[in-house]
Amino acid sequence: MKHRRHAEHPRESGDATASEHSAGVLYVIATPIGNLKDLGQRACEVLASVDFIACEDTRHSKVLLDHLGIRRPLLSCFAQNEAQRTPEIIARLRAGENAAIISDGGTPCISDPGMLLVDACHQAHIRVSPIPGPTAFAAALSASGFSGQDAVFIGFLPRDSGPRLARLRPYLRHPGPLVLYEAPHRLSALCDDLLALFEPERELLIARELSKLFEELLRLPLSAVRDWLDAQERIRGEFVLVLAPAPQREASVDQSKVDAVIDVLHGHGLSTRAIRDVVVQLFSLRSSEVYARVLERSERK
Ligand code: SAM
Repeated sequence: MKHRRHAEHPRESGDATASEHSAGVLYVIATPIGNLKDLGQRACEVLASVDFIACEDTRHSKVLLDHLGIRRPLLSCFAQNEAQRTPEIIARLRAGENAAIISDGGTPCISDPGMLLVDACHQAHIRVSPIPGPTAFAAALSASGFSGQDAVFIGFLPRDSGPRLARLRPYLRHPGPLVLYEAPHRLSALCDDLLALFEPERELLIARELSKLFEELLRLPLSAVRDWLDAQERIRGEFVLVLAPAPQREASVDQSKVDAVIDVLHGHGLSTRAIRDVVVQLFSLRSSEVYARVLERSERK
């Protein structure tokens, strides 16, 4: 078994603290989300030097590696086989081989496989080293013009509207932007849910085909999204949505009082809608927001 040397190998920097002193390193390498020129020099060097590369789809990754002139053994590691593959990869790392994990595009473990393997490495005290690079959510957020402070990366939401709305409700008043991934054929339904839940004037960045030939970024209020969707002949490409932070209100509404009223009305057996109507009248709050809060509190009972 070959033991390749790495200029940045942990044992040379003296920081391999745990027991696995002869173990190799797992490099978590981000690869392009469209434009192949986005692959950094360090990523290329490490890919060229490892003993093997775990990847989602070997045919897909071979195209990238051929483009780079890199020939290293590939080992498939995708969502359905990651659990079986992990012990095998850990054994090889323990024996001193160095490995890389890449996904079909972007950063592994970001809505992509890799988490089981990385977690197993930590548990086995095997050094994990990320090689940072492209990821669609950071690219979209960076181009959104919304503050990155308190940003939440949600990734993919459930496919059905009910569970999707339930996942979004806790973020109604979130002070930072929300970053969502969605497949093109579900984009329309997701946008309908966003409009049902959030203020119509709240802005949404739609980032399509980032770094690719037909890259498109547009920012528009939620109320205008339906027209934009309807104007598309066919919704194609890869999308990231970034929803603007909740507008900051004056601190005049005391949430604990709102909650107390909700609880009292709930205790008297009023329906969710009736409670919502009373609370909206009393505190001049948004109806959808109150409705979500009433549901949330009644679920706790
Ligand atoms: N690991 C990837 C990352 O770091 O961004 C994400 C992989 S996830 C399976 C694929 C989703 O990422 C797509 O459905 C889309 O929401 C988003 N995505 C990936 N590439 C994109 C691109 N070039 N433009 C816009 N969205 C993209």
